[in-house]
Amino acid sequence: MRKVSKERIFLSSPHMSGKEQAYIDEAFRTNWISPLGPHVTAFEQEVADLIGRKGGVALNSGTSALHLALKLVGVKPGDVVLCSSLTFIASANPICYLRAEPIFIDSEPRTWNMCPDALERALKECVLNDEKPKAIVVVNIYGQSADYDRIRAIADRYGVPIIEDAAESLGATYKNRPSGSFGDYSILSFNGNKMITTSGGGMLLGDDLEKLDKARFWSTQAREPVIHYEHKELGYNYRLSNLLAGVGRGQLEVLADRVEARRNVFRNYEKALGGIKGVAFMPEMKGTVSSRWLTVMLVDTRVQRVKITDIIQKLAQENIEARPAWKPLHLQPLFKGCRFYPHQPNQDVAETLYQHGICLPSGSNLTKEQQDRVIDQLTSILKR
Ligand SMILES: *Cc1c(COP(=O)(O)O)cnc(C)c1O
Repeated sequence: MRKVSKERIFLSSPHMSGKEQAYIDEAFRTNWISPLGPHVTAFEQEVADLIGRKGGVALNSGTSALHLALKLVGVKPGDVVLCSSLTFIASANPICYLRAEPIFIDSEPRTWNMCPDALERALKECVLNDEKPKAIVVVNIYGQSADYDRIRAIADRYGVPIIEDAAESLGATYKNRPSGSFGDYSILSFNGNKMITTSGGGMLLGDDLEKLDKARFWSTQAREPVIHYEHKELGYNYRLSNLLAGVGRGQLEVLADRVEARRNVFRNYEKALGGIKGVAFMPEMKGTVSSRWLTVMLVDTRVQRVKITDIIQKLAQENIEARPAWKPLHLQPLFKGCRFYPHQPNQDVAETLYQHGICLPSGSNLTKEQQDRVIDQLTSILKR
């Protein structure tokens, strides 16, 4: 019989610092529980200052933030929006909420993020087809920034705004500039498994305060500023509660520690496993610092002669949670029939990463013993 006594090791679990409690107590003491309140306003300002943006709108999820960002840049039914393919479905779902059509762009091997060459091909063809995209959703996958020098130059040449999906990369930098500062609008997520959490939440960031006010208005049911309940536009109930913003303020205080801890987890795995034949890790582009939200290991299954799913299964038997890399959106049944621009005409980088990638437990709260347990298991599964 297999022992089941081993404590579970999670992929990425919430990591409270203890600093959250004081903010929550303050919210209780003043009975500012919800909606809104001083923690929300302060949290928005603190995040915007940290990232170097003029303002932020705290929302109930990163998905809501993407939805409102797309609305702000004017996405309407029938429009096309370009989007990274190697990402979580939340990056693209809001495009469909607005009845627009996503077109997916492959990854480049250097960053695993949106390939600038494929982006350029897509833009050129769209413009020739007389369907200039309304936006480009650029994702910083697993905490690694996309190549913004090139992507920004291309986007500007075509006059298409960038929405930066920095849900996984809070705390990362690209050429010394913080993640979240590259999009015309940028979004963050404070879901339970992200760099920091409010249990659930997100933020829309930008530099046009009037536009951000418009998003704030939409996020509170588009209620006109009059005493009776007057509505001229369609709105949403997307705001973050004051209580949860308090949790976020406490978490923000320890963000730098969280990034350092996840980067350490990565270093430990790479040091212990990087020398195994057929094993490689996600690269970090020169001049960038990844948040290393999740450590992703690539296994060349021809060299190791083991299936990715079998490795994950074996880890699960030891009560260790691991997952495949994101299944690219252009391969999702939901998006069947959507256009896709590969890295090279006959090279689909995102699909290859999906076929060979494993996300290892990467939480900032993983102990050395837990990391050793993962390493020991993988060392016994993989051939030297
Ligand atoms: C988590 C995540 C989101 C969505 O955030 P929620 O707060 O869960 O709505 C969007 N994009 C990416 C890349 C994510 O990882």
